[in-house]
Amino acid sequence: MLSLAKNMQHFVDLIVEKSPSFDEEELSRLNHYVWIAFLMIPVSLFACVYNAYSANYILAFLIMLFASYTIGSLFLISKIKKTYLLYHGANFLYAILMLYVVSHLDSENSRILWTYIYPISVIFLFGNRLGFLYSCLFLGMIIGLFLFVPQIHIVYSIPFQIRFAITYMIVAFISSWVEYHRARYQKESQQTHYALFLEQALLKEEIERRRVLEKELQHLAQTDTLTLLYNRGYFLELAEKELQRAMRYDASLCFAVLDIDNFKRINDTLGHPVGDSVLQALAQHCKHSLRETDLIARLGGEEFALILLHVNEEHARAKMEKLKDELSQLSVPYDGGLTLNFTVSIGLAMLNKRIKRLDELYIQADEKLYLAKNAGRNCVR
Ligand code: GH3
Ligand code: MG
Ligand code: MG
Repeated sequence: MLSLAKNMQHFVDLIVEKSPSFDEEELSRLNHYVWIAFLMIPVSLFACVYNAYSANYILAFLIMLFASYTIGSLFLISKIKKTYLLYHGANFLYAILMLYVVSHLDSENSRILWTYIYPISVIFLFGNRLGFLYSCLFLGMIIGLFLFVPQIHIVYSIPFQIRFAITYMIVAFISSWVEYHRARYQKESQQTHYALFLEQALLKEEIERRRVLEKELQHLAQTDTLTLLYNRGYFLELAEKELQRAMRYDASLCFAVLDIDNFKRINDTLGHPVGDSVLQALAQHCKHSLRETDLIARLGGEEFALILLHVNEEHARAKMEKLKDELSQLSVPYDGGLTLNFTVSIGLAMLNKRIKRLDELYIQADEKLYLAKNAGRNCVR
């Protein structure tokens, strides 16, 4: 039974989805209408055949009209934007049909029981207020028939009429109460759903903000802000990994320390900002000159460290000589049209079997740098 209801709901959804309306409330009402139509169509078709068979042609025709309208309205859903017109039409036809049933006097007086469907359906369809109003109006019309149709008391006795009106009102009240709570529950659950959706969107935004922030923080923690090269800490971390890898696979690795010659003089004569420009120009040039897989970092002040991978000493030395010459040719602009040149000294150490740790390699390169400085600067040792 439950799975049948689920399949029916799926079918109802397929029809409702075709509606061009975007109004949530409207679509929810439409959903109710399709449900009621699904229940009423087979009942009406059966009643139509039954009444035609009993030679009750007018009633059979009216029921046929109602069933045709209901079936047709399902096909109109995808075409009509004001879908409420469809179920207002169905409501009107059903009311006419029921009024005919009540006023049609023959020996069969139990047909009036079909009128109990009216308040239930109409409240389910139009909601609590309008549905209840329609139910009362309909009862008013039936009472009108009771009062003004001659001979009606022969079919419906006065006590029957009173009991009918009371039980009809009870059904209308209960339907109204159920619809009130259903609508309230639906509204609350929609609000909760919307709040959850908002919360989720905010949470996603916050996660994304933190992710970006974390990336920025990580970048900041690894980067020298002036030259945008790796800073000392991150470089040593990466260098340690490269050293371990090179030792394990017996690969060649060159560690070089580069220091700007007489940098203090540049600072002292032209000012700190010009010194900064020199550091930036040097960093940019080295970055472009080295291979993607090589490493370069600012160790501090005007001292830089380089790691060249997969090169023997001869090639490493040639590369450093070339870099030293290129840097000496580099003109750094300052003060409008003026430019300045600078030189660097480089100390170079190759990984060999005796070296076990990074600091040993670093000390060796530093000693070579000291030799380069003593040899008159602007050279590689
Ligand atoms: P040497 O050829 O022996 O290396 O001499 P040097 O003048 O380059 O070396 P020294 O160690 O005497 O001076 C380094 C200078 O670098 C001193 C310091 O003011 C400057 N310095 C350190 N960090 C920065 C910086 O971030 N920006 C600038 N403009 N100067 C810096
Ligand atoms: Mg220096
Ligand atoms: Mg120095």
